[in-house]
Amino acid sequence: YPNKENYHPIKDAIWGMGEKTPYLALAKTFDIIDETSSRLAIIKTACNFFRSVILLSPEDLPKCLYLSLNKIAPAWEGIELGVGPTIIEKAVAETTGLQVAVIKKLCKDQGISEVVMERRRTVATLKAPVPLTVDKVFQRFKDMSKVSGSGGQAEKVTIIGKMLADSKPLEAKFIVRALSGKMAIGLAESSALVALAHAAALSVADKDEIAGRKAVKPSPEKLEAAVKLLKKAYNEFPNYDVLTSALVEGGLEAVTAACHIRPCIPVKPMLAHPSKGIDLLLAKLGDQEFVSEYKYDGERAQIHRADNGKIMIYSRNQEDHTGKYPDIMNRLPNHAKPGVTSFIMDSEVVAWDVAEKHILPFQVLSTRKRKNVITSDVTVQVCLYAFDLLLLNGEPLISKPLHERQALLRENFVPSEGEFMFATSLASSDAEDIQTFMNEAIQNRCEGLMVKASHAPYEIDKRSNKWFKLKKDYLDTVGDSVDVVVIGAFHGKGKRVGTYGSYLCAVYNTKAETFESLCKLATGFSDQQLQDFTEQVNELRIPKMHKDYRVSLQPKETPDVWLTPKLVWEIKGADLSISPVHMAGVGIEDPGKGISLRFPRLLRVRPDKKPEDATDGLQIVNLYRQQATVQKGSKADDDED
Ligand code: ATP
Repeated sequence: YPNKENYHPIKDAIWGMGEKTPYLALAKTFDIIDETSSRLAIIKTACNFFRSVILLSPEDLPKCLYLSLNKIAPAWEGIELGVGPTIIEKAVAETTGLQVAVIKKLCKDQGISEVVMERRRTVATLKAPVPLTVDKVFQRFKDMSKVSGSGGQAEKVTIIGKMLADSKPLEAKFIVRALSGKMAIGLAESSALVALAHAAALSVADKDEIAGRKAVKPSPEKLEAAVKLLKKAYNEFPNYDVLTSALVEGGLEAVTAACHIRPCIPVKPMLAHPSKGIDLLLAKLGDQEFVSEYKYDGERAQIHRADNGKIMIYSRNQEDHTGKYPDIMNRLPNHAKPGVTSFIMDSEVVAWDVAEKHILPFQVLSTRKRKNVITSDVTVQVCLYAFDLLLLNGEPLISKPLHERQALLRENFVPSEGEFMFATSLASSDAEDIQTFMNEAIQNRCEGLMVKASHAPYEIDKRSNKWFKLKKDYLDTVGDSVDVVVIGAFHGKGKRVGTYGSYLCAVYNTKAETFESLCKLATGFSDQQLQDFTEQVNELRIPKMHKDYRVSLQPKETPDVWLTPKLVWEIKGADLSISPVHMAGVGIEDPGKGISLRFPRLLRVRPDKKPEDATDGLQIVNLYRQQATVQKGSKADDDED
């Protein structure tokens, strides 16, 4: 097993040099990770497995990574498996000989992946199965993503059925878990990258040892440096195929050269910390120069244009939104000055009232169709507010200070009212000026202000303490709304019988990669939402609590059904308090206790966020501290990373 001490990447592997990686080796790795809660042990397990792959079958490395993260391609390619529960049940029925009704019944007590595994254990196979390889499983998954049309469902059932017929019990379990989108073994992308970086650094010594040269194990500093390098490269160019092939061919050094920001490959956005008041903010910024900008209430859009004229629009989550905004696509070339060949721009799309010439609320924007929109169908007009420039004419700008990036933005693009505008900004450090500007922003239908240090580079994928957000409603109750992951549901009572009436919501602990319960949410739903959420949630049911959930299992607080972490909702509450029940930021403010959000209500669903993008437990602790600071009227420090 890959997590044993003194793991040897060849002797301990279950396959040989030059052979294809057996899917069983990956399934065993998943199984160990699934049973492990220590983050370090999980990373070590994955690292040892990757070391074997790097030495024995390096061409399988990207496929192993994708399958470990339950993906088949980078998010922006928008490739989906398109496999729902019905297809899986049919395929399982075909391979196990059980009827669909029986499978459904068995699934009440255990997940379908367990049902399959049990059956594969007990049913004798008639013909000798063909061993499954990582390559084959990955290819089958890709094949399924290409199948569409009327016969598509039957074709997918056949593909899955064949894979299952060739699988060993453990393989069947993880194939079905992957297909049903409930992989959830507890290997987050950031841990997978740490494991890969460690594996890459260790494999230098592995290769030396095998070649009979003196092998020097990398020091902890070297391992740390490898992690930093790999994360930076992945942030700039999030493509495992390119990253792993550079790694395999030229080692870590080659990765930096191969992976850098470029048009039409989305990068993760720079994010802001919430701040609860102008005085606190000014104290935090000290003597740094900064600029305040309107915080528009729409949808983040990263706009790319390549040298060949191709334009792409990506969401906050790196999803392809090009098909959602044909109107922006048509107009964009008019806004770039002659001489601009390629660029990456950061901006916010907001709904725009053409007759009255003003911004409309986010709720209006959210009624816009998401895919394959035709310009003539557009009912909600939008205006793009640009606030940053990450690349211009092939040159990356992310290391340049904000004031230079913004100057280039203004020099190279032409605004036009109601279509393309620069974010309204103010360069003043006077508290009264900022307060007036904030009032103006709110009158102009914005959420508040973004305040940004002028000398700061663009920090990809970072909630940075160079950017702050100051929302109008920070000034009343809890500083910020909170993005939570729905991890459990309770059956409704009274008027809500037949639907789920309340939900257990959690924040995400980025360090420990666990979901910590924050509150039970029962308010803010429309009747339609109660129905819709019930349907969605039924698809996400898992048979037992996920090992990475940190919740109190008191009878009243234990949900009737547990859910795989998928749905992200934005909620707001009255205040935060130390809780005997909830677990957000557990142990930081009070030994053994966490923080809960009182009187929470749903604001909106956040399809643009992944569970790992939910509010961090540490942010909750910071909000709790700010709340205490403000209540005491003190000017103590603001939130901290
Ligand atoms: P929120 O829940 O506030 O939207 P978030 O987690 O999506 O938060 P934050 O960094 O917390 O992201 O808040 C910044 C968001 O505000 C950006 O993601 C962007 O969509 C939006 N925004 C609006 N105007 C601006 C601006 N001038 N500069 C930067 N971001 C802006």
